[in-house]
Amino acid sequence: MKGEGNYPNGSHSNGFLKLIHNTFQKFLDVNSDNYQIELKKSLEEIGLFFDLDRIFIYYFSKDPTFMQIESQWNKKGIKPKREIEEEEVVYAFPWLIRQIKNKDFVVVNNVEEFPDEAVFEKEAFLEEGIKTSLIVSLKNENKLIGFIGYESLSKPMTWKEDQIEILIDISKAFSHTRARIVKEKTYKKTLRGQAILLNNSESQIWALSNVTFYAAVNEAHARFFGKKKSDLEYQDLYDIFDIDTANKLSASNWELFQKSEPAQKEIEIKNFKGENRLLQIKSKPQKDKTGNIKYLICTAEDITEQRLAERELYKAKEQAEAANIAKSQFLANMSHEIRTPMNGIFGFLDLLQSTNLSLEQKDFIREAKSASKVLLYIINDILDLSKIEAKKLTMEKIRFNLRNTIEDAVSLLVPKAIEKGLELYTMIRAGVPEEVVGDPSRLRQILNNLISNAVKFTDKGEISVTVDCLKEENETAVLNFEVKDTGIGIRKDHIDKIFKSFSQADTSTTRKYGGTGLGLAISSELVKMMGGEIHVESILGEGSIFKFDVRLKIVKRASEQKFAFEKLDGMNILIVNDDVNNRKIINSYLQETGLKVFEVEDGSSAITTILSNANTKNKINIAIIDCQMNDMSGYELANTLKTIPFSKDIKLILLTNITQKGDAEAAKEYGFSSYLSKPVRRDDLLACIAIALGLKKEDGEGHQVNETCS
Ligand code: ADP
Repeated sequence: MKGEGNYPNGSHSNGFLKLIHNTFQKFLDVNSDNYQIELKKSLEEIGLFFDLDRIFIYYFSKDPTFMQIESQWNKKGIKPKREIEEEEVVYAFPWLIRQIKNKDFVVVNNVEEFPDEAVFEKEAFLEEGIKTSLIVSLKNENKLIGFIGYESLSKPMTWKEDQIEILIDISKAFSHTRARIVKEKTYKKTLRGQAILLNNSESQIWALSNVTFYAAVNEAHARFFGKKKSDLEYQDLYDIFDIDTANKLSASNWELFQKSEPAQKEIEIKNFKGENRLLQIKSKPQKDKTGNIKYLICTAEDITEQRLAERELYKAKEQAEAANIAKSQFLANMSHEIRTPMNGIFGFLDLLQSTNLSLEQKDFIREAKSASKVLLYIINDILDLSKIEAKKLTMEKIRFNLRNTIEDAVSLLVPKAIEKGLELYTMIRAGVPEEVVGDPSRLRQILNNLISNAVKFTDKGEISVTVDCLKEENETAVLNFEVKDTGIGIRKDHIDKIFKSFSQADTSTTRKYGGTGLGLAISSELVKMMGGEIHVESILGEGSIFKFDVRLKIVKRASEQKFAFEKLDGMNILIVNDDVNNRKIINSYLQETGLKVFEVEDGSSAITTILSNANTKNKINIAIIDCQMNDMSGYELANTLKTIPFSKDIKLILLTNITQKGDAEAAKEYGFSSYLSKPVRRDDLLACIAIALGLKKEDGEGHQVNETCS
């Protein structure tokens, strides 16, 4: 080789071609194991061939401000480039690095050739006694990754162009091989990492290439069966396991293969100790391009203990629930036992009241009765709630008049509302059916609870109860009830709380208003049992609207209600009332009666309307007059009307706040033919009109002035 080192004339001698061929051939087959050895060999071959003194390869580190010699060769007796191969700073040779970044190579044949700026390079040149140096850049994907240096220390030499070209090509083989080896190493590292993960995973993982054939398994899966990975991999289930286990596994695999999409299943299978374990298997098919399953990847968790714990928990929950139901049942059963003595107390207090007592004793009895009443309410609420919780509460299914039920519920609270100076309206809209099937007393209970809360939590303003039919489905009416007040309202963050048992919006409520916090919880359950929902909208300080809907089977629609009032056709009625809501309600109840309705808001407008229509077809025949208006009382208006010839025949109906004995007498004296108490009930209103016009005799319920009208 030595002779050839003087580089032969004629560019490509045999030795030259052999060198190139050898290097390329070798580097095609190099792998990460023999890379370093082969690289060193190649450097030696090149060094000897060109009669050089040393060759070295630098590669940049991950941090590109550092570099390291990866391989070096030096002629016998020549000092190696570096004694220790360790990381060096790239910018120790700034000029050189700049050069090879832009060019494929740099040749320095004489120290004098260095420009002034190459201070460090010159220094190294002199220090190491280098005579000639060829530095070739090493690139991968157009990025500089290092450089290779060919040096002569013993003699100067001149590089020829084709020599340089060949060395550039060889350098390319070096850098490409290096890139490939790095990639290979990274891949191997990744694989090793994955294997570590797989084999240290507590979860069992395996891949099947068909229903009975394992492709790969992890340690955990092999361990479960007390086997080694290699016992399972590329083996058939029936060659590994006993027949029972193999049958079970293949049946489960069959099921998972059938799915051809991610699936899950639980199987009970014996582990290596012969214990039955519950495995939760999740599978995911890996398909080839044609959509056939190539592998079924399975993972499994041993959920034996977890399932046992769940069962225990479920049992404990069942027991707790059973105990709870038993408690509620006990309370519900106590209903009768508690109520009977309470009724006894009431009865005896009544009897005691009718005996000869001092004023002080009477006072005591009144207090005792009032306290007992409160106690009975509370007991009833608690019993209702326990019945609901014990699932013992049943809903009646009886036919009842919806309108009457609603109006009765409202009437019950009228005295309290009046006592607090509150207006209480009821508006039952036109589509609401007349008769339905359901539980009227439970409906009354809900309304009673909502209205009594409204009265309780309102100090001024009004309360309205509106009922509407939202829709009809298969002979069932979906009815919406709204109880609206102008009371204290409820804070937003308390709204969810109030429908829970024993919950009040805030504790100060109990102090100020009393109550148990059960009413809404019971109402909410009752509404649910009637196929609906309850909720509230409220603004603190402005008021609340409680809304609920129920489903009730229709027996008789409003349109089927017969009034038999044909004679009202062509009749004109005047509503005199300063309250627009009352006017609206009365007006709505008079729709479809044939009456033509006029509305005014005070006494003087009433007189004007009556006079201006006197000789027309709008002549007023009947007037409903509120007992108290802004400009005059109803009585004063009646007095005035009686003195006017045009109006003295008009039938007058008085609308009063509360029915008192004196009212009936006074009304008669002032010339009213009947009177109605607020809130107005539609049937009473129509009966009063019929009686006033002489279309209907007194029906015994008393619609004439000498009796109460409602
Ligand atoms: P109770 O009235 O016996 O306390 P409820 O279940 O009927 O029990 O009501 C629960 C709480 O909801 C009441 O204590 C009150 O704080 C609030 N609440 C109910 N209705 C109204 C209302 N109309 N206005 C303001 N707060 C109300």
